[in-house]
Amino acid sequence: MEGEAGERIDVTLLRRHLGATLAILLCAAGSLLASPPVSAAPGVPRVSDIRAWTNEIYTRVAIDTGDEVSWQANTLRADPSLRLPPRIFIDIRGAGIRDEIRSKPVEVRNGLLRQVRAGRYDRDTVRVVIELERESTYRVFALPGPFRIIVDIDGAGEIPVPPTSPAPVAAVPPREDPATLPPAMTPSAAPPTPSADPAAPSAPPAIPPSVESSRVAASPPSHARKPRVRVMIDPGHGGKDPGATGPTGLQEKDVVLAIGRRIREKLARSGEFDVRMTRDDDVFIPLEERTAMANKGGVDIFVSLHINASRNRSAEGFSTYVLSRGASNREDLELAARENGVPVGKLQGVKFIIDDMFTGARKNESLRLAKTVNDAVVRHVSTRYPGVQSLGLKQAPFYVLVGARMTAVLVEASFISNAREESRLRDPSCLDGIADGVVEAVRYYGQNGILAHSDY
Ligand SMILES: [Zn+2]
Repeated sequence: MEGEAGERIDVTLLRRHLGATLAILLCAAGSLLASPPVSAAPGVPRVSDIRAWTNEIYTRVAIDTGDEVSWQANTLRADPSLRLPPRIFIDIRGAGIRDEIRSKPVEVRNGLLRQVRAGRYDRDTVRVVIELERESTYRVFALPGPFRIIVDIDGAGEIPVPPTSPAPVAAVPPREDPATLPPAMTPSAAPPTPSADPAAPSAPPAIPPSVESSRVAASPPSHARKPRVRVMIDPGHGGKDPGATGPTGLQEKDVVLAIGRRIREKLARSGEFDVRMTRDDDVFIPLEERTAMANKGGVDIFVSLHINASRNRSAEGFSTYVLSRGASNREDLELAARENGVPVGKLQGVKFIIDDMFTGARKNESLRLAKTVNDAVVRHVSTRYPGVQSLGLKQAPFYVLVGARMTAVLVEASFISNAREESRLRDPSCLDGIADGVVEAVRYYGQNGILAHSDY
């Protein structure tokens, strides 16, 4: 586990201290690289891209470094005298930075995220600075394969920056060069704590559902009026990532897209749902982007669609998962690793904070929906294929569910590695059965579950 930078997540979550205090999540990296490469030499990790998804209350920033790096996150409070807003910064050790990124900040200015910029802080460190419109709670974690650092920012319900803060308008933006930021500007937060107790019990949900509900209700326009329940269907894989392949060549990415389209059509028919899809084509979308799309869209229910596979060709059945830190058995761990696109070894040390403000409030709803989905899918497919196996409700560390702020489940709709189940997956009536099951469960949940904590 040592040396797995980014797999040691976290640790200190100080939030809502006197209301206006920044919540600070320190993320400690495991080890530093042995040498301090500073150029973009071949084989040296470097900040090659910065991506952001954002709305008025939510932002996810992804920092791509390709290879594993050591990093640390921290915050700076607003400094009106320097006309600087609240900032989150990520120091990345032993990495280079692509010139285009250094010279061109990602400008947003949409209500929560102002801009993201990056530069060299010292000879060995690249600093990525996320400028916010107001102080916000955040957390940071890293995903391997390829390595990227993810920053999730929750701007809902936080204390806004006082009106005395200078308007940014067209004035030359105050811009301290990250390279010139003296270490003294680093807040006196606790030092990184790589020795965080991995056995520590899950933190209780930071926000009870009722509280979160009211916060969302009080948030800006995109969430103020939701005429219908929003559902995001996420057909797994796509493009260069075929997912699992069956004995006769059927590919998971094609099956789940076909199921997803059926679900969308069936759900949309009633008019009760605003149905979206993370992809409606054979395209590759990174896992963190799928979650970000759902969060940004203010989605209520997220359903990720997959087909299972196993070295054991007789393995069969349907299961539906919710996010957890670990898996209860080797098969589930291997499944999560495959779906995450990483070796099993990369998963074993992962310590996601899942029972936090982003996910914890929806955990029980997700468990309930997952069970409902699995029961309904098995029931519907059984009418066409008697004897279908249910493997039930399960939990595993799927990256696509990490940071999802809504009720979120992941369906593993039978085994494509099993010749009999692969042939069923070529049958449109089987795909319809799977879709009917998901639709029934989502409708049931939409009518009986989500309304209990929503405001429309
Ligand atoms: Zn999959």
